[in-house]
Amino acid sequence: MPRPKSLKSTIPGIGRILRHFMPQIAKEKHLLVLSLLALVAETAMRLLEPWPLKFIFDRVILPGFNVHSLGIEALEGWSPTAVLTLLALSLVAISALRGAAAYGSTVGMAVAATRIMADIRGRLYSHIQRLSLSFHTKAKSGDLITRVTYDIERLREVTVVAALPLLTNTFTLVGMLVVMFVLNVELALIAVMVLPLFALSTMKMSTKIQTVARRQRKREGAMAASAAEAIAAIKVVQALGLQDMLENSFASHNKKSLEESAEAQKLRAGQERLVEVLVAIATSLVLWRGVQLTLQGSVTPGDLLVFITYLKVAFKPMRQLAKYTGQIAKATASGERVIDILDTVPEVRNLRGAMDALPFQGDIQFDRVSFGYGEESGILNNISFAIKPGQRIALVGPSGGGKSTLVSLLMRFYDPTAGSIRIDGNDIRAYTLDSLRNQISIVLQESVLFATSVRDNIAYGLAGATDEAIEVAARLANAHDFIMALPQGYDTVLSERGNTLSGGQRQRIAIARAAIRNAPIIILDEPTTGLDNESDRLVSDALERLTQNKTTLLISHDLRSAETADEIFYLEQGSILERGSHSALMQRNDKYARLYSLQSSPQPASESSSSVSPSAYALIS
Ligand code: ADP
Repeated sequence: MPRPKSLKSTIPGIGRILRHFMPQIAKEKHLLVLSLLALVAETAMRLLEPWPLKFIFDRVILPGFNVHSLGIEALEGWSPTAVLTLLALSLVAISALRGAAAYGSTVGMAVAATRIMADIRGRLYSHIQRLSLSFHTKAKSGDLITRVTYDIERLREVTVVAALPLLTNTFTLVGMLVVMFVLNVELALIAVMVLPLFALSTMKMSTKIQTVARRQRKREGAMAASAAEAIAAIKVVQALGLQDMLENSFASHNKKSLEESAEAQKLRAGQERLVEVLVAIATSLVLWRGVQLTLQGSVTPGDLLVFITYLKVAFKPMRQLAKYTGQIAKATASGERVIDILDTVPEVRNLRGAMDALPFQGDIQFDRVSFGYGEESGILNNISFAIKPGQRIALVGPSGGGKSTLVSLLMRFYDPTAGSIRIDGNDIRAYTLDSLRNQISIVLQESVLFATSVRDNIAYGLAGATDEAIEVAARLANAHDFIMALPQGYDTVLSERGNTLSGGQRQRIAIARAAIRNAPIIILDEPTTGLDNESDRLVSDALERLTQNKTTLLISHDLRSAETADEIFYLEQGSILERGSHSALMQRNDKYARLYSLQSSPQPASESSSSVSPSAYALIS
């Protein structure tokens, strides 16, 4: 929970935001300067607004008050009607000019803010995409989405609905104070007497408002995160009957957020009323002393009119200041949430001087590689092996043994904590991430398809893939026939996650996707698990063709598919316990051999005959 912050300590936050986004802001500097000039013009017009009335009072209605008054000499010798006409016209002119200037500054600022925020949003999105898996496994996707959408929108909104008026109001306030002091120092002093009171109350209230606002923002983030989680896993939620439980927890967050929102509104409303009372006190004090001074003849009735009008106008911004500080505090919190992400440096990134890899031969070496997630250690322990180009390696062993981790290191999703991984003789950290990952294709157990056409799903990210190349890849993947049977063939748009296709069909599209990339290194992470016999046959057949002459790492619980590998690694608790060809390992007659015999022996009908059940691992160890 962040410490409650006062308005004063919000300012460094605003400073941090401005500094951070300076490059984006600088791009819009011309528009911003123009808007600011319009703002100054608007302020000047606001200051001028009561002056025609003052002159009407002093020169037309009450010319008897023959005291010295600012600007009155200029109208000397004019007839009252001429003065009146001139002043009436100037009233209209001032209003029209003020309107035009306000329009210019509002539109200018709004356009600049929209452009700046679109730019920042783009930067944030691409940064999130580049953050390491170690970050993403900890971050909640809903929370990240809120930052890209809601927080950015709030920042944009606040520049127009709060920051701009705040700036106008501050200019106006300063301008009016200057004019008041020029008109009459004593009255001006009386008017500003309430300022300290005002400042004190604003600061105190703002701290409270900001604390509540932050708490509410945090809760909204948590709510979005838990809703996103539940919706993403809706199948599991419904299967386990978790709806009620999740609904209850959501409802309780929702209720608390509502209460916090109401509390913030109450605080804001209270603050505004307090300011109103302070304005009334200042006005009555000025009126009381002002009338005495007028009767003594040291100020004109017109001057008093200007004073009272200014008081009303000058304190109105103050009343709004109270409103805006809340909004700005909220936006500052949003801005900080955005910057926190932008400041997160990807753990895995291109090293200085990283080079684009040449096309790989596919020679892989792990040299005393150890790895642990976060604080944990011992997920992989001192692993060394070498794979020659075109070799096929199978990684087998119980779940949690470290097989997936091992291949993630090869793709640099994480970097090893010790040791090094080399491809074609160079440490993979010497290559740029893109050039490394582009040359490794991966087929997972559950392939992710995007909500776009089959064609795009196969060619995703590959610029300039021809229709012929896509079809060749699909044929290799045994996918062409079923794709042609879809309503729009290759143009059929898949639903999110490709739910309209069977598991085997999804896998074959994923294989086509890998095939078209023609990567020299291929990773297969249990690609046939959960498929029926016919799908298994089609997918295995496609995989056989995909991996022809490619360095292949296959993770599998199905020892029959591992059997044909050039070498089999048996991994348990982060170490390679056995390695060798199928026949060598069978001769060794240890864990692998026992597992293989268990899998080959007849199993109860309910268990899949093609993969090892967790209980089998327990039996052999
Ligand atoms: P396998 O692929 O052999 O089933 P994994 O490489 O997935 O094994 O997992 C190895 C170990 O690392 C397991 O103990 C697992 O709990 C842990 N692990 C895997 N992924 C993460 C992660 N993102 N964060 C923390 N621990 C993880």
